[in-house]
Amino acid sequence: MYTVFFVGTAGSGKSTLVSTLSTWMEDQGFDVGIVNLDPAVEYLPYVPDIDIRDRISARKIMKQFKLGPNASIIAAVDMIVTEAERIKEEMEIIGAPIYLIDTPGQMELFAFRQSGAYLVQKLSDVHTLVVYVADAVYAQSVDGFAVTMLLALSTRIRFKKPQILVINKSDLLSEDVRINILNWVEDPTTLLESIDLPPYEKEILRSVANMGGFIEPLFVSAKTSEGIDKLYYQLQLHYTGGEDVQ
Ligand code: GDP
Ligand code: MG
Repeated sequence: MYTVFFVGTAGSGKSTLVSTLSTWMEDQGFDVGIVNLDPAVEYLPYVPDIDIRDRISARKIMKQFKLGPNASIIAAVDMIVTEAERIKEEMEIIGAPIYLIDTPGQMELFAFRQSGAYLVQKLSDVHTLVVYVADAVYAQSVDGFAVTMLLALSTRIRFKKPQILVINKSDLLSEDVRINILNWVEDPTTLLESIDLPPYEKEILRSVANMGGFIEPLFVSAKTSEGIDKLYYQLQLHYTGGEDVQ
């Protein structure tokens, strides 16, 4: 059983990407399972095999414990931990060879709380991968790109799993912007020259970049399906060294 977690800032397109990738994989004849771990989502663009909302609903918690919207979402995400064992069992019963796991809208709730790391650990089998989903609109500026790299790095430190960085919504990027981004990765000095930062912060960023902290992204679009095949091949490489998953 292979598990692939989709993590990223709110609205970066995690759920849409899970939908597009799963449809693409099914069209290719692969068996794929989907788990939704977002207890607060109202609408999902796919039909999950396992849906945390069947067990935990942020809306119900809000009413039951008279919590505000933020507190109820935090409580709901933390409560997923109590369901982890059963989710894992259900995944085993369904028996899909690969599961795409959609995570709560706001990444901090999943990536930066104890419960998220626990869930990744618990729902991981031998092979687990994190797909960090960045938002192209945000990542196209120098500041946005630097922050994206640091967030992806924090996620890597948090989950301690192999990670792929995708820039989603690439349909909204011009060719020039893509070239810029690739240049920043290949030669971080081009980014450091144009970023407006105090000297000390710039040096910290330089160190991160020089240590290989700027990862080459895969440009994808959950909307147009651009790069979805490449994303699948990356997953495949991680899992099987190139053989199809099934
Ligand atoms: P999540 O919070 O990370 O799960 O984000 P969603 O999947 O709910 O997507 C947030 C918004 O971004 C929705 O309005 C999507 O239609 C839109 N979106 C997602 N992927 C893409 C994409 O590749 N291109 C464009 N243009 N919009 C996208
Ligand atoms: Mg979502």
